[in-house]
Amino acid sequence: MKLYKNFPIVEAHVVNLNNIIFKCPFHKKKTFHYHGSCGDLTNRRTHRGSHCPSKELKQGYYLEINQKTTRAYLGSINQILKRDQQLLNQLWIQQQNIKGTYDIIEN
Ligand SMILES: [Zn+2]
Repeated sequence: MKLYKNFPIVEAHVVNLNNIIFKCPFHKKKTFHYHGSCGDLTNRRTHRGSHCPSKELKQGYYLEINQKTTRAYLGSINQILKRDQQLLNQLWIQQQNIKGTYDIIEN
């Protein structure tokens, strides 16, 4: 896995006003791990303690939210909902304009 400051980077599947969610590859069954987003929809890497028992991730990781991350809510079977996507994208643009451009330095 790609590392950032010695922690693995996991790409977010979706971000919304409540959660950052990633699809975890270290399970036999399709598994999503949920973290709080604090209402922040902007592109960033944010460090989190692990919600995953796998040896690859248990020490913690950076969640990456980037230009490709879908701003959406998930339904009861973790499907992406169309509802509120337009609103979330508008909010994302507003937040990103305040914060400035994506400025992660590749290591
Ligand atoms: Zn996991």
